[in-house]
Amino acid sequence: MNNEYLKLVYEALSKKIKLTESNSKALRKLYEEVAEELIKQAEKSKGFNKAWLNDYSKVVKNRLKELENNMYFLNKEAIDASSYIAAAIQSNFFQHIGEKFKLDIPKDILRAIYTVPEDVVLKLLSGGLYKDGKGLNERIWSLINKMDKDINYILAKGIVGNKPYLDIIKDLEKYVEPNAKKPWDWRIVYPGVNKQVDYNAQRLLRTALNHAFYLSSMESNKRNPYVESIHWELSSQHYERQVKRFGRDECDDYTEQNRYALGQGNFPKDEVPIPHPQCLCTQYGVVSKSMEDIGKELGDWLAGGSNKMLDEWYASIV
Ligand SMILES: [Zn+2]
Repeated sequence: MNNEYLKLVYEALSKKIKLTESNSKALRKLYEEVAEELIKQAEKSKGFNKAWLNDYSKVVKNRLKELENNMYFLNKEAIDASSYIAAAIQSNFFQHIGEKFKLDIPKDILRAIYTVPEDVVLKLLSGGLYKDGKGLNERIWSLINKMDKDINYILAKGIVGNKPYLDIIKDLEKYVEPNAKKPWDWRIVYPGVNKQVDYNAQRLLRTALNHAFYLSSMESNKRNPYVESIHWELSSQHYERQVKRFGRDECDDYTEQNRYALGQGNFPKDEVPIPHPQCLCTQYGVVSKSMEDIGKELGDWLAGGSNKMLDEWYASIV
């Protein structure tokens, strides 16, 4: 394995982790802001009845519409950023070789390698990647719709059951506030109501970000002729989070197989499986040729030497 190349891969992976963390925090903040506003509005009432609930439902709907839009933009930006980080690995590789061996790699080559395929992002936004065909818009809408229903249910149940209004507000607060602890009997009192208000939204964001990274890196791996295959690597948390609790999953098979005779855990560039939702594994292109050998080969070719492989590659990307 080419370790200098692998270092670039790991740098990108750590950027992706940072991106995930910062976006996850930003998402939580969006929920906290909604919680604060909805509680403030509810506290203005002196007592709850059906007429009040009617008015308040409109406030909730408006505020959730805003959350829906904010979430869409947050996800969209995270998808873009993640795609760019992944796409940069292979162009950084060529830039690195260029600097190391003082090669003048033409700009059109570097640009062609770096291109983030628009259809990667579109595929994710429109749902083309998933079996159910649901796009980002639709997924976010259904999360928001569920939240709207949950809020209504908590309030209506309190009003019908003549709960003191301060208690209703407390329950509402426990629901909308992402950091609030739920009482042990939450699921009995409010069956079907989500326990962690931002859980599914966080899950959606992480999956979108991972898939963007995956799609974009798989595309750019195809643009680097020195990437021989794609390696599937289990996350360090795979045993704790998956195997110990639920048993092995398809990722264990992916890392153990050698059915293409490309090495254990390796797939041909165009036969890499799509990671399941919540998959924390990493997939990266394998380069085994050393930097020295690649630098020499590229240098000779750029100087006019003949190289069928590089000629064909150049014709295919530019
Ligand atoms: Zn996995």
